[in-house]
Amino acid sequence: MSDVDVVVIGAGAAGLSAASRLGELGLSFRLVEAKGRIGGRTWTESSTFGVPFDRGGHWLHSADVNPLRFEADRLGFAYHQGYSPPSSRPLHLGRGWADAAGRQDSVEWVDATFEAVHALGRAGKDVAAIEAIDTVNRWYRLIRHWHEAISAFGPEEISTLDLFRYRDTDHNWPVVKGYGALVAALFAHVPVTLDAPVSAIDLTGPDVRVETAKGTIHARAVIVTCSTNVLAGGSIRFTPDLPPALGEALRAIPTGGANKVAFQFSRDVFGMEPTSYATFMDERDPARHALSYQIRPFGDDIAIAYLGGRFAEETEAAGEGAMIETARAGLVDMFGSAIMDHCITTTATGWCGDPHTLGAYSCAKPGEAHRRAVLGEPVHDRLFLAGEAVSPDWFSTVHGAYLTGMDAAQKIATMLP
Ligand SMILES: Cc1cc2nc3c(=O)[nH]c(=O)nc-3n(C[C@H](O)[C@H](O)[C@H](O)COP(=O)(O)OP(=O)(O)OC[C@H]3O[C@@H](n4cnc5c(N)ncnc54)[C@H](O)[C@@H]3O)c2cc1C
Repeated sequence: MSDVDVVVIGAGAAGLSAASRLGELGLSFRLVEAKGRIGGRTWTESSTFGVPFDRGGHWLHSADVNPLRFEADRLGFAYHQGYSPPSSRPLHLGRGWADAAGRQDSVEWVDATFEAVHALGRAGKDVAAIEAIDTVNRWYRLIRHWHEAISAFGPEEISTLDLFRYRDTDHNWPVVKGYGALVAALFAHVPVTLDAPVSAIDLTGPDVRVETAKGTIHARAVIVTCSTNVLAGGSIRFTPDLPPALGEALRAIPTGGANKVAFQFSRDVFGMEPTSYATFMDERDPARHALSYQIRPFGDDIAIAYLGGRFAEETEAAGEGAMIETARAGLVDMFGSAIMDHCITTTATGWCGDPHTLGAYSCAKPGEAHRRAVLGEPVHDRLFLAGEAVSPDWFSTVHGAYLTGMDAAQKIATMLP
């Protein structure tokens, strides 16, 4: 006898939307979450700076068509529409700011190279993005950084076909009170059992048996929203084993690295407009990674550095001190060491080592783009995956996760007898 129709595992954007939709469809559910909070990779907290800080998802990507943008309008969550594309931002080269000609040159090369990468995907070629990139070009470190920020992997680990399939309208709008806060407000009505990590899912009996730290739940179906790295990592035991094709897909579409390092100042030390951006690439030292920064988000005296890919993973592994030093060095080179006299708080995220995410967002490896579709296929008509990695065209985003959760709930409603 089932306790509920559906167990939903993970209270991130996908799990919350799945549970909410199940409720609308008249199905009973239990939503269980390993952490002591909801939101997963969308998490706004105000305790560090006294103002909202998104430790995970921040921008409403493809905001003009993003369904969560419309929810933000409905719930009265403001967002900033003045996002400048990465290629048009002030660029510091170590010795000083790039002049207009240098900026133009970098923009043209980066844009043309992105287009060359996309052209491979458009032609149906599933190869590494690096095949379209001149790695000895002066601006190579810039495009490497942008690939790492967008895909959470460097260009040698990105499938051109997968990247091409990502639907981007170039409208990226940050939410003033936080993207995590928006998701939390949208699903405030959904009951969640927190601190209940799932350790096993058994599909061998008449019911699905889900073992959690807060007891065993019997259900007619289960929706699992954990990241691909968590699922491939084996912290949830599946009986029988997941189908080999699904196991291969989880490994072929890993969750890459991305982190933020943020500094709060006691006053405006930058003299830049609210919600500005700056990019740093030190031409004095070719071994240094390029970095991008958000400066004074919404007018708060904060700077946020973005680290992506293996660089984010390795810096996180070296410790919070190493992350802060890496980001601080770039800031000081751009704006002078005196700014640090006014720095009052620092913080760094640690998504790669977080056992419940083991990374930031997913990306198909070269040659593996076709496996993303496998993630969305039901297992024995009773186990459904949802989450950003399952989205065919909006993977790696909050709204992609949100839509896959609704979709899984809908599929269950039509499939359950
Ligand atoms: C630094 C960073 C910046 C980002 N920036 C953006 C951005 O600007 N815009 C954007 O759209 N996206 C962004 N993203 C990506 C976006 O946040 C994610 O794609 C999205 O939030 C994923 O949602 P999800 O529901 O698929 O997964 P998750 O949010 O990871 O939800 C899965 C949940 O499952 C839980 N869980 C794991 N294991 C278990 C278990 N055994 N039992 C029970 N529960 C478990 C986890 O704790 C988690 O809460 C960013 C992500 C990061 C990390």
